[in-house]
Amino acid sequence: MTDFKETGVVDLKTLVKMGYVPSDVRLHRGPVAIYECVEEIPCDVCVFSCPFNAVSKNKMTDIPKVDFERCTGCGVCVGRCPGLAVFVVDVSREGDEGYVTLPHELLPPPSQGDAVVVLDREGGEAGTGRVVKTYRDRLTGSWVTTVAVPKNLVMNVRAIRVIKR
Ligand code: SF4
Ligand code: SF4
Repeated sequence: MTDFKETGVVDLKTLVKMGYVPSDVRLHRGPVAIYECVEEIPCDVCVFSCPFNAVSKNKMTDIPKVDFERCTGCGVCVGRCPGLAVFVVDVSREGDEGYVTLPHELLPPPSQGDAVVVLDREGGEAGTGRVVKTYRDRLTGSWVTTVAVPKNLVMNVRAIRVIKR
């Protein structure tokens, strides 16, 4: 396990340890949020943004606690989080493709059908994917994009680079 305080990059084992990774059973039931908010910062946007009361904090500087049974994977928090620290993964679909919904800061925004290179938490190329949906959050204006990727990549893909329009 690498120390994200030294590298600036969080790894999956750390996320598991922090309670941010749902059980396999929950993962396969439907889309669900993966929070990667690992610093104790004074922010609770996710808590009051979630329409299903699936996110909580005892105090402002706690890390968020996600109730995976309440989370519907709606994705609202992805476009609201100022830290770009929330993702939604979906491995419940039939076939080999899973979906990752992620915040995307770079302009121009991707379009449905775009081919993309998918990047891991360190910015390394993890493979290729396809944009299935993109929209702008109605409150923050942030772009949110859903990409189809091989199912085995959904817990690693956290950014995209458009390669074909
Ligand atoms: S994906 Fe939707 S239901 Fe789940 S934590 Fe985010 S806002 Fe709440
Ligand atoms: S809104 Fe984002 S940065 Fe703020 S506490 Fe929630 S997950 Fe962390």
